[in-house]
Amino acid sequence: MSTLFLRTLREDPADAEVPSHKLMVRGGYVRRAAPGVYTWMPLGKIVLDNVAGVIREEMNRIGGQEVLLPALLPREYYDASGRWTEYGDTIFRLKDRKGADYLLGPTHEELFTLLVKGEYSSYKDFPVILYQIQEKFRDEARPRAGVLRGREFHMKDSYSFDIDDDGLQRSYDLHRSAYIRAFDRLGLRYVIVSAMSGAMGGSASEEFLAETPTGEDTFVRSTESDYAANVEAVRTPAPPALPIEGQPQAQVHHTPDTPTIETLVDFFNAAGLGRTFTAADTLKNVLVKTRAPGAADWEVMGIGLPGDREVDMKRLEAVLHPSEVALLDEADFAANPFLVKGYVGPNALLHNKLRYYVDPRVVEGTAWITGADKADHHVMNLVCGRDFVPDGTIEAAEVREGDPSPDGRGTLYTARGIEIGHIFQLGRKFANAFELDALGPDGKPRRVTMGSYGIGVSRVVAAIVEQSHDDKGIVWPREIAPADVHVVGTGKGEQNEVALRIAGELEARGVRVLVDDRKGVSPGVKFTDAELLGVPTALIVGKGLDQGVVELRDRATGERAEIPLEAAVERVAAAVAGG
Ligand code: ATP
Ligand code: MG
Repeated sequence: MSTLFLRTLREDPADAEVPSHKLMVRGGYVRRAAPGVYTWMPLGKIVLDNVAGVIREEMNRIGGQEVLLPALLPREYYDASGRWTEYGDTIFRLKDRKGADYLLGPTHEELFTLLVKGEYSSYKDFPVILYQIQEKFRDEARPRAGVLRGREFHMKDSYSFDIDDDGLQRSYDLHRSAYIRAFDRLGLRYVIVSAMSGAMGGSASEEFLAETPTGEDTFVRSTESDYAANVEAVRTPAPPALPIEGQPQAQVHHTPDTPTIETLVDFFNAAGLGRTFTAADTLKNVLVKTRAPGAADWEVMGIGLPGDREVDMKRLEAVLHPSEVALLDEADFAANPFLVKGYVGPNALLHNKLRYYVDPRVVEGTAWITGADKADHHVMNLVCGRDFVPDGTIEAAEVREGDPSPDGRGTLYTARGIEIGHIFQLGRKFANAFELDALGPDGKPRRVTMGSYGIGVSRVVAAIVEQSHDDKGIVWPREIAPADVHVVGTGKGEQNEVALRIAGELEARGVRVLVDDRKGVSPGVKFTDAELLGVPTALIVGKGLDQGVVELRDRATGERAEIPLEAAVERVAAAVAGG
């Protein structure tokens, strides 16, 4: 440490809110270069490489082959896939000296597809799994929390290529098992949740979320089963349909001064109709407009949901992705005069050829109080399947704690996590865009099917710190720690020399050592630094040296033991080996 390029800090950086950001900066692991752009310092680089090493080993174990593609990519490939437009502002775009458009790669589906197309042509060539560990670039709207959400960050991205759906399932399962092994080795607490595939446009997809209260992702779990899902991916269980026969006729009521669901429910309860209504008996119609990527025009659309629920814009966006979505403004109402604000019912939409989707709870035979498409009027007993037929269902309603779990066991509650990995079955989106075919055994071309799989390598480092720290500093799991043992020499005498000698002996046995041989630095400062840096084992060569003893400290448990100097190397080696 007398020569290590390291300066630790006593104060938290002003811009840091989460523990990993504070501790990685204070411990001198990273330094900020620009918003969301970080330099990895010597100890940080070791940790980053260790994490990448674990992931690399597990990728190789499933037969993945490592390559390294460029990060600087010509626009044409992303035009061919449509992602030049779809990615919107998130892509870093640039021009070369001739004015040609380039981008810095946010992920590499396009290039991998072309790469395989260039080399392979027969079904006998497949399957193949290719991966890289590389810097990715995304101009995130809100870079935050240090390396947790960077604009330049490290990702392991892999891509599988198969001839048929069974093969894709096998490649997907292999990745799933590799991720489980890697994250287990990295000592992370995580859940696997089913997810939406977002910008990729595919089918089966799961996310690995490291559980921490500082996580940006909300997910739900069941009280009774191991069901876990992203809020965006929750599928609302539909109740059974009800008979339409014998239901009373729809009835329009004059309902003055009922601008809100609450006032509407009060009105009907005061009307002496012989029953009590709640917000869940009303059908709220939310109007939105959507626009496909690159399209000029917006399309107005209605969403019907029980009046006790709000639309969750994130869930709606996920369903409609890659189209944009926005609420209607005054001009939109003016352009569609049949939409009577505050009194919109399903039929104004359906009769005017606007799409109308309902929440899955709005099943055939359910009767509703809803807008009568006339100012100050509502209709009662409007029966789904009799008085209106929606265009389909949509998952746009908020998910609430206590909702029934979609697997039929228990109820849902929410938790928070950090997305550390993502696996999904892309299918043929990119193979179609680039016509990636393989000649089948019958001599006919077959379209290849793909999977795409990512791990945020730099984000994983921070996620580990989020889960493994205390008020004094980081507590690294041994496998990825910057060193196995931190040998600290304190005192004015021969302590430093002895510390260096022990360090040498340990290194000769293959133990990774950080040795604090700094002169003129107080023992207190050295101990504080050791705790901040978070190496799992510390060996203190201090005052006890006169009596021939040194001290062994365990960073995770805080345990301390005085041991004879002669036993030090053995004991440290045993601790490192897990003894
Ligand atoms: P997020 O929802 O957090 O923005 P994403 O779903 O866009 O992530 P993917 O495209 O699935 O990310 O990328 C694969 C992995 O890369 C993610 O699971 C995550 O671990 C990591 N990752 C994505 N964006 C970032 C970022 N800005 N900084 C650090 N790691 C990231
Ligand atoms: Mg993802």
